[in-house]
Amino acid sequence: MSGPRPPEGAIHVAGSWRRAHTAARLDVVDPATEQVIGRVPDGDAADVDTAVRAARRALGDRRWRALTAGDRAALLLALAGELEARAAEMARTITSENGSPIAETGGAAAHAAAVLRHTATLAGDLTAEDVRPFPAGGAATLVRRVPVGVAALIAPWNFPLTLVMVKLAPALLAGCTVVIKPAPETPYHAAVLVAAAEAAGVPPGVINVVTGGPGTGQALVAHPGVDKVAFTGSTEAGRHIARACGELLRPVTLELGGKSAAVLLPDADLEAFAARLLRTCLRNTGQTCYNATRILAPRERYAEVVDLVTDTVRSAPIGDPLDPGTVFGPVVSARQRERVEHLIRVGVAEGARVTTGGGRPAHLPAGYYVEPTVFAGVEPGMRVAQEEIFGPVLTLLAYDGEDDAAAIANHSRYGLGGVVFGADEDRAAAFATRLETGSVGVNFFGSNHAAPFGGWKDSGLGVEFGREGLEAYLRYQSVHRLAP
Ligand code: NAD
Repeated sequence: MSGPRPPEGAIHVAGSWRRAHTAARLDVVDPATEQVIGRVPDGDAADVDTAVRAARRALGDRRWRALTAGDRAALLLALAGELEARAAEMARTITSENGSPIAETGGAAAHAAAVLRHTATLAGDLTAEDVRPFPAGGAATLVRRVPVGVAALIAPWNFPLTLVMVKLAPALLAGCTVVIKPAPETPYHAAVLVAAAEAAGVPPGVINVVTGGPGTGQALVAHPGVDKVAFTGSTEAGRHIARACGELLRPVTLELGGKSAAVLLPDADLEAFAARLLRTCLRNTGQTCYNATRILAPRERYAEVVDLVTDTVRSAPIGDPLDPGTVFGPVVSARQRERVEHLIRVGVAEGARVTTGGGRPAHLPAGYYVEPTVFAGVEPGMRVAQEEIFGPVLTLLAYDGEDDAAAIANHSRYGLGGVVFGADEDRAAAFATRLETGSVGVNFFGSNHAAPFGGWKDSGLGVEFGREGLEAYLRYQSVHRLAP
């Protein structure tokens, strides 16, 4: 099929859209208008079973099984091109589902293509023959790296394509087949993805899609035909999945929540920080897992930082996410807005001071908008400094000396991202290594496809990206042979 919309009531199985078994439907709502833009199946256990069986059949089908790692890398490159050809369609589709500013979603296809192209470069790792002699001699072992099998890919709504692609690209390169369960808020971009995959020549059944909510996800995680689970989402859902996978002894990768810190060292260039602030701390209307939503400033510069952050956040345009100039769109759903507004009320009750925002923008009567909000006077133990808000809300904390800054930054159940700003790069880089977090930036934060990305503590288990991310889709077989 072409175009962003699958036939109503269909799931994507074995290369085509088929009527779902379930009669249950989920509304898809445009967060900028609050209008229902479509309905998709809330996949049940029978739908999950159909999709997993299709993926298992494809795993054994010679149209997939006979491909070398090099052939699969070529498919990834073809898929990259097909996605780029659909960049505008992809951007509009995602923005209509989750309200992300088009300036953000406009890059989604290109980013996914970059992940695919980088992953394709890892094919050589898979083809190199790995023979290891027995230490005592007389025999040798061929170490084979084989696809783990059928992978269940469960994604959230905030960067729906990217967070599927960081799983799909290594899964396909490894030779796995997949069942994707997109978030219920963002199902339609997956139709653009499967159209691109079909055009790229990915064989039928290699990529299957079942829409639905948490129940669909649970059925998929528990299905006996699934060999590996890769999940991105909340820490709470991640714990459920980890428990299920523990019982099943099923390998699982979890990319979970965060509450990252931006530490401004005493010599930080505040103008340079301000120029990166919105991207680093409030990207995607605050709905980015690694946003540095706790800003730590030296007490002697705290007042200056409060003014700078307040002015920068207040002056950023909020409105229609389809407008290329928009920085802040709506949050994804009514439920998410309630959660964000609840935590703003909690912050006020805890004694933090709102320096801008705190309510709903008066000029936007429709849509799930929340005014970008800055809290000053935040203490490290406050709930607004501890809980992931996942909306456009920043907290500003003061510290006294570097040890205090490190202690406050590490006083968190999460350990996903972080960034350190300082004019002396080496000193800032040395401080960065004190942060208990899977990724940390010095004067900027970015994601490098070649480097592992994953959370410490409650932020996750395992990594995605890079060679390390590919390992999650492989298993080993050691074949011992008497040396000739
Ligand atoms: P969520 O956990 O509610 O849902 C994520 C996905 O999991 C959805 O597809 C959902 O239907 C499914 N799901 C929910 N419960 C499940 C269960 N018990 N079993 C199987 N599937 C289940 O998260 P969300 O609200 O969609 O996304 C926001 C969260 O994602 C935030 O906490 C954010 O920090 C996190 N996130 C993490 C990363 C990362 O890389 N670490 C990236 C983006 C988002």
